[in-house]
Amino acid sequence: MAIKRICKYGEKILEKKTRKINFDELKKNLPAILVDMFDTMDAVGGIGLAANQIGLDLRLAVIKIKREDEEPLSIVIINPEIVEKSGTLYEEEGCLSFPGLFARIRRTAKVKMRAINEKGMPIEITAEGLFAKAVQHELDHLDGEVFINRLPLMSRLKLKPALIKLKSQWKKIDESKMKPM
Ligand SMILES: [Zn+2]
Repeated sequence: MAIKRICKYGEKILEKKTRKINFDELKKNLPAILVDMFDTMDAVGGIGLAANQIGLDLRLAVIKIKREDEEPLSIVIINPEIVEKSGTLYEEEGCLSFPGLFARIRRTAKVKMRAINEKGMPIEITAEGLFAKAVQHELDHLDGEVFINRLPLMSRLKLKPALIKLKSQWKKIDESKMKPM
């Protein structure tokens, strides 16, 4: 297990578009990176994680959604692009890079996405509901955007005091984790 530190809002890597992956170049290191990403996401109960959230400048994300009476839906997306969008969703969303913050975000209800999977094979996925939300949230990360950027300006301004307060708490969490037991 290798649980990585998750970058928080305000860290530069979250605001930069990630680098497109050359699969053959990354192939050797990919399995270890994916283990770290799934371990990190599982450790905090997330449903999605983008590589830049653990400090890697790579156009890569993982998504894992629990389902009733079924194995979790678990996918790896490399160089993903959304090719079709339809409908709207307006639901609460959170982000591992903003622990403790939730906001209602306008999204597309259904998306079609093309990507490469962990074996280097091209895939095309149609996602709806929570899955579609997760896909759009992770693609935003890979484009250097965070979910609160999707809020209208007034809502973002109203969030500011709460964010400043939360940021001081994140600092304490990170510092306490660095102390030896
Ligand atoms: Zn996020």
